Amino acid sequence: MLLYNQTVKTWDVIIIGGGIIGLSLSIALRKRGATVLIVERGEPGREASHAAAGMLADFPLEMPPELQPLATASACMYPEFVHELQDESGIKVDLRDQGTIFFATPDHLREHPGLATDCPLPSPLEELEPALGQVNLPAIYLKERSVDPRALTAATLKRARHRDVDISSGTAVTEVLLTNGRATGVGTGQSTDRGQQPGVVDPQVDLAELLDHLGSEAVEGGGVGDVDGSGD
Ligand SMILES: Cc1cc2nc3c(=O)[nH]c(=O)nc-3n(C[C@H](O)[C@H](O)[C@H](O)COP(=O)(O)OP(=O)(O)OC[C@H]3O[C@@H](n4cnc5c(N)ncnc54)[C@H](O)[C@@H]3O)c2cc1C
Repeated sequence: MLLYNQTVKTWDVIIIGGGIIGLSLSIALRKRGATVLIVERGEPGREASHAAAGMLADFPLEMPPELQPLATASACMYPEFVHELQDESGIKVDLRDQGTIFFATPDHLREHPGLATDCPLPSPLEELEPALGQVNLPAIYLKERSVDPRALTAATLKRARHRDVDISSGTAVTEVLLTNGRATGVGTGQSTDRGQQPGVVDPQVDLAELLDHLGSEAVEGGGVGDVDGSGD
């Protein structure tokens, strides 16, 4: 069991998915002292976070009402978040505060009659964005910020690595392992069986080699998590 104990690593938290949410969360957890593993089926930051336009929306017409308080809180925290990111990663994420030109539909104007006067454009539309001069809808101006989403993700990834977040790329999580109703590990695409112990092994180790050494006590699944059976 010596090799088992030496080779297998455990973490306080396993995050499934290394997009901007998983990466940011990992940094926040590391700042609070937790050890963290991110399990990412592809490459970190190459899915929605890579495709995003980078608008930091904070306006009721742009989202369901339930999300508005979160969006407002997030928008307030962004400058500090970006400042820390840039400081630690050395990557500029291009936080801008030029605002958003928003084209209100007739429905918007019916529901919010004061919209056009409450949120006027700072200059004529043709001056702000000549290519939009011909759009035949009332344009309003939102005081919102934006970032370069790819730079944001790159900076967040670099910062997570700098803070010793472990990242396992190319590993798809296929199941969350539960013990007495608690999540104690995850199974990955490499595994076919649930392990006998509540948890599985680090996918970065050579699973076949590890199983050879473990013999009949082996955890059969390939995956990640807490392997000592304690559930701690
Ligand atoms: C075209 C487009 C434009 C957008 N524009 C904006 C915008 O302007 N402003 C804005 O705020 N939002 C925008 N969004 C939304 C924004 O991109 C997402 O809300 C944000 O990126 C979500 O981050 P995430 O980390 O949850 O998701 P993702 O970046 O998709 O990360 C999730 C990760 O989880 C991994 N994963 C999934 N399943 C598994 C598994 N079983 N095992 C292991 N890994 C797994 C994926 O590979 C992926 O890397 C836009 C989205 C799109 C598609």
